[in-house]
Amino acid sequence: MVILLDLDGTLTDTAYSKYKELKDGKIETQTLKIPLIPGAIEFVNELKRLGHRPIIVSDSHPNYVRPIAKNLFGIEQINLTDKPNTTKTIDHLEANEELFTLFQNKDNFLMVGDSFLDIELGRRLNVRTVLTKFYSTDDVEERDGIGDDWKPLKMGPTYYAKTYADVLEIIREPLKNLLAVEAAFQGEKTGKAVRFKDFNGKDGIMAFRCLARQEGGEIDKYSKGDKYYQIENPLRGKDFLETLSLGVSNYLDEIDRYQKFKWDYFTYVSDKITTQPPNKMKEIFDLVESKHPKIKLFEWRPDVKGSLRNQPNYEERRKFIDFNLSLLDGIDYKGKNIIILDDQFTTSATAYSISTKLRAAGAKNILFIALFYLVSQVHSMDCPICKKPMAIKINRKDGNKFYSCTPPRYKGEGCGNIINIANG
Ligand SMILES: [Zn+2]
Repeated sequence: MVILLDLDGTLTDTAYSKYKELKDGKIETQTLKIPLIPGAIEFVNELKRLGHRPIIVSDSHPNYVRPIAKNLFGIEQINLTDKPNTTKTIDHLEANEELFTLFQNKDNFLMVGDSFLDIELGRRLNVRTVLTKFYSTDDVEERDGIGDDWKPLKMGPTYYAKTYADVLEIIREPLKNLLAVEAAFQGEKTGKAVRFKDFNGKDGIMAFRCLARQEGGEIDKYSKGDKYYQIENPLRGKDFLETLSLGVSNYLDEIDRYQKFKWDYFTYVSDKITTQPPNKMKEIFDLVESKHPKIKLFEWRPDVKGSLRNQPNYEERRKFIDFNLSLLDGIDYKGKNIIILDDQFTTSATAYSISTKLRAAGAKNILFIALFYLVSQVHSMDCPICKKPMAIKINRKDGNKFYSCTPPRYKGEGCGNIINIANG
């Protein structure tokens, strides 16, 4: 496998503003004085020993990147990459016959880095990505956007790693490390989830988890935006629902292995009477295998008008849920530990609204699980006809993807050009 490695913060412990002049090539790089993340050299050596091809991909200056790549790691490098711009990286791959051949199958590549820009670069290359967290983030350079803690998660990395050993494990078993629902669609069982919120207070925990990515634009083929739309398809098949619920069952299995307290209720965000297909969530919920008692806890106002999706932002969505969705009466919520299943996580409004209601009713530990979360939009390619940016769209009927130069009748500014994207 070709492992594209970010340098600062991924191999070297230099993601701080005091290294800026060095990274800009303004002062001479003395490689022996560069602080490394502990284990970085052993990690790169292990990659080489296993027959992989590590390549440093860095925005920094050649005066800095070249000696580090050569003297410390003995590997090739690409500098001044201007992430997430792909031009320099693709030029490097195309200049080498072996790399170019390998790039024809995106599964031969992995992008590893600590910033959303690394993940965005990987997404634009359609390769799988690993978001690393090898150091603590106090004094970090502004330009990487680190510190805004949901931003890298929203960029939709394929994997997460806290150690080099985690990265090696991902390389060893790429399919067995996917998010739980994405893995289920590959016929694999994992208990992996994106951890959006981990609040541990004196009243109990509040945790939000997501089990698959729903892409906006370029991404690796394991992201499941097409499956998200299939949930709403009246012709969605039993096989599809079973695979989806299996992903949830596998995740619940995993938390049961590690968590000590018992969950009193397993519930879901109920369907409205008008929801299509009818029992959209209930059918999935019923198929999930769980030892925790299943129960219906929520109810929509009978006269609910409009839909959550049409609310433009967090505030409006929050108001919509607060007003229209209520807890069922006659149920003992005091001190209960509750798991909630929903289909999609976007602004977190539903998760917060529901968790707040449950807490107000006396609930203790709350675990909110969404099947999918909407990842940030990433620019695709420009239209070959009119040169305007094209968007990747998904045909809601058959799940096929296509580039669209969206014309005015669909609220775009483009010429209407469509290019189909081969599945795979
Ligand atoms: Zn066009």
